[in-house]
Amino acid sequence: MTKKYTLTILPGDGIGPEAMAEVRKVIDWLKNNKALSFTLHEDDIGGAAYDRYGVPLADETLEKCHASDAVIMGSVGGPKWDNVDYDKRPEAGLLRLRKEMGLFANLRPALVFDALIDASTLKPEIVKGLDILIVRELTGGVYFGEPRGIEDLGNGQRRGINTQVYETYEIERVGRVAFDLARKRGNKVHSCEKANVMESGKLWREDITALHQAEFNDVTLEHMYADNCAMQLLRNPSQFDVIVTDNLFGDILSDAAAMLTGSLGMLPSASLGEADKAGLYEPVHGSAPDIAGQGKANPLATILSFAMALRYSLDLSNEADAIESAVQDVLNNGQRTPDIMADGCTEVSTAQMGDALIKALEQ
Ligand code: NAD
Repeated sequence: MTKKYTLTILPGDGIGPEAMAEVRKVIDWLKNNKALSFTLHEDDIGGAAYDRYGVPLADETLEKCHASDAVIMGSVGGPKWDNVDYDKRPEAGLLRLRKEMGLFANLRPALVFDALIDASTLKPEIVKGLDILIVRELTGGVYFGEPRGIEDLGNGQRRGINTQVYETYEIERVGRVAFDLARKRGNKVHSCEKANVMESGKLWREDITALHQAEFNDVTLEHMYADNCAMQLLRNPSQFDVIVTDNLFGDILSDAAAMLTGSLGMLPSASLGEADKAGLYEPVHGSAPDIAGQGKANPLATILSFAMALRYSLDLSNEADAIESAVQDVLNNGQRTPDIMADGCTEVSTAQMGDALIKALEQ
């Protein structure tokens, strides 16, 4: 029986539409070669939506997202909209989308493909076979806590205030996502905070420990201070499987982990909320206005984001595996967009990279 899915595709600005055109090729290939049916809603976000609707995310677009199994986004932003009011800037559309979809867990894999091992700044023997998943809490912590602001103290001094605050339900729900994912991978979770100097970190550690004992004691759990985690990511990254951490530490640790892999054009991400709601899948990179429209963009981060959608929102792990191993094959065959070009390889355009991937899927 044909399985049916609804996807919302938001190509966005800059290189977003070019990369998304290659995702469409993969969707078409799945339609034609597997018993899968996709209903696609395509719409604008970011600057493209501002030009069309006067806002960076229209209500009708949001409705389509809510009615989908997954939302695949390209990228937003660019110099054309630099002077638009802050609340109508392209980035505001993306922030609204994340908030309205209730996405509290951000997943950032750091995967080193053998063929790109030299792109890492670390030694090949340190990053070989690296496969880490960072789960970052996305809607709480110091970026949202109250009180916040800058106070004038009246004596020529000012005070900047942000509040780090977490409640048990926020820690438990992101912890649950991390433990669940670990069960499908290496079955190990490192939970990172600063319980030594922060009460919110102490609560984080206690709540994660209680959740582990109650629901996930088959998964290996280790606690680690976030500063030590930063150090260990550089010293011995292959000790990690899943890392779960708060919004602030996750922001920093996920960028550090991502750069172990060396290339922005290869990095996908997923943001998840409650299990029965749609997830949002997008590459880590931005709209790259410097290369937009020139056929130079690497579409693999967006294609790998789509593979994450298949795995996490559509429960199609076999198809996700097939796409990921096709990416591996293309890289092993030496086909490279300019950002990952190396000696002895063949430079290909965005569209040629998509075609090469389809060819690899067919084999
Ligand atoms: P960027 O990620 O767009 O580009 C940084 C550099 O990496 C550029 O030199 C670019 O050419 C290159 N690059 C990025 N993705 C690539 C790919 N797939 N293939 C080949 N090369 C790639 O970051 P930036 O230049 O700081 O920002 C540009 C715009 O994107 C800004 O308007 C920014 O606000 C926006 N932005 C959006 C997102 C998002 O949509 N989630 C994220 C970051 C930045």
